[in-house]
Amino acid sequence: MAKVGFIGLGIMGEPMCQNILSKGHDVIVYNRTRAKMGPLVSTGAKAAPSLAALVHRSEVVITMVADPSAVRDVVTAMGGLLSALSPGTTYIDMSTVSPETSREIAVLVRGTGADYLEAPVLGSKKAAADGTLTILTGGDADVSKRMEPLLLAMGSKVVHMGDTGTAAHMKLIINQIFGTTLCVFAEATLTGMEAGLEAGKILEVIQSSVVASPAIQAKGKDMLGERVFTPHFPLKHAYKDMRLAVETGNATGVPTPVTKAACDLFGAAWDKGYGDRDISAVLRALTDR
Ligand code: NAP
Repeated sequence: MAKVGFIGLGIMGEPMCQNILSKGHDVIVYNRTRAKMGPLVSTGAKAAPSLAALVHRSEVVITMVADPSAVRDVVTAMGGLLSALSPGTTYIDMSTVSPETSREIAVLVRGTGADYLEAPVLGSKKAAADGTLTILTGGDADVSKRMEPLLLAMGSKVVHMGDTGTAAHMKLIINQIFGTTLCVFAEATLTGMEAGLEAGKILEVIQSSVVASPAIQAKGKDMLGERVFTPHFPLKHAYKDMRLAVETGNATGVPTPVTKAACDLFGAAWDKGYGDRDISAVLRALTDR
C-alpha cells in the first residue's frame, strides 16, 4: 500500500481517487476549489493544506487537471510540486496534455531527482467510476512497471507506449478521431433529419453499418434526441484536445485539414456557451434547434 497524493478532483479525478482509496492506499488530496475535497475526505482521505504539504506526505503524487496550463500551474507555481519533490517520490500526470508539455514537465521533475511518468487515460466518467479505464504510460519502462499495481486501482489495462510524449500523443490521436467522428456524425444526421428521415432509424442503420462505433453508441441518442448534453467529457476539454491535435500535426509536419475543420466547429459551440456541456454539444455549432 502506498502513500498517494491526488491533485484535481473533477469529473474524472474524484472517482479515480475514490478507487485508489477503496483499494486501501493512504490518500491525501488537494483541489484548487477546496469544497471538492469533501466527498473524498468523508470516505477517508486527508485534505492537504497546500500542494507542498501534499508532496511531503506522499510517495506517489498524481495530477488529473484540466489542461497544459493547469499542469504547469500545479508543477511550477510558487509552492507547487517542484518546490517539494525529491528523490524517492514519483510524480504521475494523468491529465490530457500535449507531448511537448509532458516532455517539458519531465525535464523539470527529473531535475529534482524524482521520477516522472505520463499516464493519460481512455474512458470517461463511467469507466473512471467503475475502475475500468485504459491507462497509457510514457516514460521509463521500469517506473511504469513499478506503478502498474497502483494504476490498476483505477483501470483495467495499462499500456506502456514508449518514451515520454508517446502516451500523450496516443491519447490525442484517440480524441482527434473521437472529436472529428462526432462532427461528421452531427453534420450528416442533421442533413438526413432535415430531409425527413427518422432519427431512430438513422441511428439504427448507422449502428448496423460499416461506420458503427462506440463513440456514436455513447453519444448518438442524445445528439439526435433530447439534446441534454449532460457533461461526461466537457466540450471545453474536447476543444482543447482538438487544438492540441492540430498543434501536434504542425509539430510533426503532417497536414490536419479535417481536424482543423472539426476544431473550428468545437470553437463555434464553445463560443455559443457550450464549453461546460458534454462533447456531444458540438452539434450546437450547426443548429440551435
Ligand atoms: P474537470 O471536471 O473540468 O476537472 C478539472 C480539474 O482541474 C479540477 O479539479 C480543476 O480544479 C483543476 N484545475 C483546472 N485548472 C487548474 C489550475 N490552473 N490549477 C489547479 N487546478 C486546476 O475535468 P475532467 O473531465 O475531470 O478532466 C480532467 C483531465 O482529464 C483533462 O485533461 C481531460 O481532458 C482529461 N480526460 C477527461 C475525460 C472525461 O471524459 N471527462 C476522459 C479522459 C481524459 P477546480 O475544481 O478548482 O476547477
